[in-house]
Amino acid sequence: TKWKQFDLSPSILEALEKLSYTSPTEVQEQVIPALKSGKDLMAKAQTGSGKTAAYAIPICDQVEWEENKPQALVITPTRELADQVRLDALAIGRFKRLKAAALFGRQPFAKQKLELKQKTHIIAGTPGRLLDHLEKGTFDPSKLKYVIIDEADELFNRGFVEQVEAIMAFMPKTRVTALFSATFSKEVESLASKWLKTPERFEI
Ligand code: AMP
Repeated sequence: TKWKQFDLSPSILEALEKLSYTSPTEVQEQVIPALKSGKDLMAKAQTGSGKTAAYAIPICDQVEWEENKPQALVITPTRELADQVRLDALAIGRFKRLKAAALFGRQPFAKQKLELKQKTHIIAGTPGRLLDHLEKGTFDPSKLKYVIIDEADELFNRGFVEQVEAIMAFMPKTRVTALFSATFSKEVESLASKWLKTPERFEI
């Protein structure tokens, strides 16, 4: 299949087959090799383009099952998107038995705290609750390899930018950072220039 070009592990290829993802979408063609090679990137991508799998596939491929601390963080503007990311990561990582959690407000903090004590490879969440866990020390970011800022323009529209900046300040220096946005506005560009290292740009 066309997935073979990306050199993904057999368990990931098997999951893609089970999902009936017969071939990569355009954003996946561009983003998967870039993320796999460890480059920062920013991609202009709409909902429906397959952007979630574009980062979830290389992340699921690259995380190590044995590591107990979170290895990937996805910052999202809405609870719905955070939960969708969790479900997509679980589906793509199912044959690797990967664990994913969604963290957002209006859910018991204590329950999430317990969840974070268990092995969790991939975390998705909205800015307020993520920052809360980082500040309280219930979310240990020290082993994060991937940080994804998803729907960056929506994060601005909803007034989350200060919280996103505060979250980024907690991130380990050595990491891969990717930003996705439907538009590259001035604000999005300035966020990217602050937190991404000479990102590759994709405008599909
Ligand atoms: P997204 O843009 O991430 O919201 O994805 C839109 C929809 O496309 C979701 O329902 C995905 O499950 C689906 N999808 C993602 N990648 C593929 C693919 N390569 N082939 C078929 N469907 C896909």
